[in-house]
Order: sequence, then structure tokens, then C-alpha cells
Amino acid sequence: MRKNNPILTDSFGREHTYLRISLTELCNLRCTYCMPAEGIQLSPKSTIMNYEEVYTIAKTFVDHGVTKIRLTGGEPLVRRDVEQVIEKLASLDVELSITTNAVIVNRYIDCLKSNGVKKINVSLDTLVPEKFTSITRRNQFKTVYKNLELLIDEGFHVKINVVLIKGFNDDEISDFIELSKEWPVSVRFIEFMPFDGNRWNRTQMVSYDELMKTVNSFYGKSNVIRLEDAPNDTSKNYKLEGYKGSFAVISSVTNPFCDSCNRIRLTANGRLKNCLFSSSESDLLTPLRNGESIEPIIAKAMASKFKIRGGMDTLEKLERPDLHSQNRSMIKIGG
Ligand code: SAM
Ligand code: SF4
Repeated sequence: MRKNNPILTDSFGREHTYLRISLTELCNLRCTYCMPAEGIQLSPKSTIMNYEEVYTIAKTFVDHGVTKIRLTGGEPLVRRDVEQVIEKLASLDVELSITTNAVIVNRYIDCLKSNGVKKINVSLDTLVPEKFTSITRRNQFKTVYKNLELLIDEGFHVKINVVLIKGFNDDEISDFIELSKEWPVSVRFIEFMPFDGNRWNRTQMVSYDELMKTVNSFYGKSNVIRLEDAPNDTSKNYKLEGYKGSFAVISSVTNPFCDSCNRIRLTANGRLKNCLFSSSESDLLTPLRNGESIEPIIAKAMASKFKIRGGMDTLEKLERPDLHSQNRSMIKIGG
């Protein structure tokens, strides 16, 4: 039963109703902005939550007010028992969704449908096959594009996540927006963010302002319609007159949306992260395995949440590699 006990409310009054669960640290792609070139140190298998532990921890959050759960990774669908996890979580009173690179999503259409998963975010950073191979270090463009079409045909609500990187895919902004002409998708341009091992540099990032300048000059400012954003939305949403879909910007670097943040994250090894950028984490899995209550740990973690980006409240702090390296690589957080 949902409680009014505000253990998921932080000291700035933000209520956290959206839990993102990373199901695995493994992935079938190697995106350069996410997976460090030197690879990552995987957590020992025994320290990864099994599906019952995922369920028990998720249920605790749902009991305290979480209404949305998104599965992520690594690549959530490479987890062997992903179907069991989805079935278990679907029994909770939440909206269940998933973020995937779509390489093997075709195998899970029935599972996703029968468990009520309607919203799927697909990551795709380029529409040029050779560039796809260079950014993901894997030759899978055709499969991903085919699966994207499949998801749309099957009636899922699809958002396409595009991490914009200067000199790599900033020449494809209008090509991506054109996907929203006939497809009822939302194309979301994400500002490239710094994490451990991704060699982030501010000059590689395409900012919200730069993106909108490109869009306005290509389409003409008067043709670009600003849409109303949903409450707690991390994106600023737009569309073009007559297009079936829309596009959006996620500007975590130049325009953080921390004031309305309602997100918390659970890593595959059962650590609670109160912010994507937070360098601290709270182990929920060990106490759960020891038969202890995890609620006091959750409450403490929430009370210590910083107001802005895990304490990196200025662009200057974001630019300090010593601060990113105290955080995880993105592949071990889940976005
Ligand atoms: N493997 C799945 C996928 O790629 O969709 C789920 C996990 S992935 C870590 C989740 C999201 O994080 C993806 O949309 C990816 O593009 C985004 N992401 C990863 N590294 C990022 C970075 N440095 N800056 C911005 N977004 C990033
Ligand atoms: Fe894998 Fe997703 Fe990271 Fe790419 S962004 S390496 S697909 S986890």
C-alpha cells in the first residue's frame, strides 16, 4: 500500500516518484560517450541484484510513492532473465517503461506488450551506417533501424534519444527532425554529459541554444512550435507544423532541470543514487540480503540530495575531470 510517509521527499521538498533501474552493467554496443575505451571493471556477478531482489527493492519504492519505473542498463535486454524481471515488475502498480539500444528488442515485443510496457526510448545517434559503427564500435545500424520501424509499427510510444556531439552528428539535426514528419515519435536531442572515462570536453557539446539556432535557421523560427512540457519533464518540447511527431532538447548541462527533479536511480548492484551526477551512493542490496530494513537508508540518501547536479552546480565544476571520476561511467549508471 502507498504511504504518505515522505521518505522520498528531499530537503528541498522534491517528491521522487520516478525510479530508474539499471538491470545490468553489460551491453552489446560500446558507445564512446558512455563506455570508456579501456572498458569497465564489472561488479562481481554475486553482487548483481537477482530478479526477486529487483522486485523487492522496487516494491519498497512503490510503497512509498513511486509511480513510474524505467528499466535501463547497460543494455537491459541483454540480461538473461529480463522477461522474468519485466513480469514481476509489471505486477506493481506503476507505469513501466524501458530504454534500449534496440539491437535485440524484436525478440521481446510480445513480452513488452503483454506486460503493459508502452513507452520505449531508443538510442540512435546517427542515421549514417558508417558513423553508427564508429560511435557504437559495433556494426548494427541496419538492425537497429529495422527494429525502430518495428516498434513504431507495433504501436509503441517511441522516443529516439540522440546524444549530440559537435563535428560528429550536429550535421544530422534536421535529418532526425524529419523522422518526426511521418512517424509519431519524439526525437530527443541530449546535451553530451561528462561521466567517468568518457573524456568529456565542453567544446564537443552542442548546447540547447546552438541546437535551437540551427533548427530555427533551417525551418524558420515561426514554423517551430513550442509545446507544453509535462510536469517533471526533463525535456523542452517542440514540433513542426503538420508533423506527426515532435522533437525535444534535454539540456542537463546548460539548463539543468533540477528544481523539478523527481528521479532516483538504482544501479544493477543495488546502490541507490539520489542524482545522476552524484558521487555518493547508498547500498540497499547488502542490508536487504542481511534481512535489514532498507527504508532508513533510503530516507537518509534522499535527505542528502544536493539541490543541483549532485553538487556540480556550475559549468566550471562540471568541467573538472576529478569530479566526474568520483562518479560512475554512464554504462554503470543507466542514464
Ligand atoms: N543501452 C540503453 C540505451 O543505450 O538506450 C540504455 C542505457 S544508456 C546508458 C541510457 C541513455 O543514456 C541512452 O539514451 C544514452 O544515449 C544516454 N547517454 C549515455 N552516455 C551519455 C552521455 N555521456 N551524455 C548524454 N547521454 C548519455
Ligand atoms: Fe550500451 Fe546504451 Fe551505453 Fe550505448 S549508451 S554503450 S547502448 S549502455
